Amino acid sequence: MSRSRRPRQRAAVGVLGKELTRRSRGRCEPCGGKGDNRPFQLPPFPEEPDPDRTLMACRRCRTWLEQERIVPVEARFLAEAVWSDLPPVRLAAARLLLTVEDPEDPWMQDALDVAGVDPATGEWITPDDPVS
Ligand SMILES: [Zn+2]
Repeated sequence: MSRSRRPRQRAAVGVLGKELTRRSRGRCEPCGGKGDNRPFQLPPFPEEPDPDRTLMACRRCRTWLEQERIVPVEARFLAEAVWSDLPPVRLAAARLLLTVEDPEDPWMQDALDVAGVDPATGEWITPDDPVS
């Protein structure tokens, strides 16, 4: 059994297939692409498949999420994805932006602010966190 720090997708996510297909209207939720869309769960996985932690993603977006690497010239759509009404899409977009080691481009910084994701943890910024 592999101890990869990237957990494998669970088969159980399949139960969300119908719901996600309806929600996404057959398109990749981050980029709008139509190529080979499948549900992708965002780690850490909840006990039960959760549509708020799962998005419909095309092959490219799934590969990027799995490998934690993006192709910045192809990634402009992330600046729009962070405005999504869907929390998992915003979270996925922010995490993809965070894979850029040196996010010098101001649009990337702005996008992370919009998503409301903490760059340090890759999770939601919770306003009532006891900071300091
Ligand atoms: Zn996509």
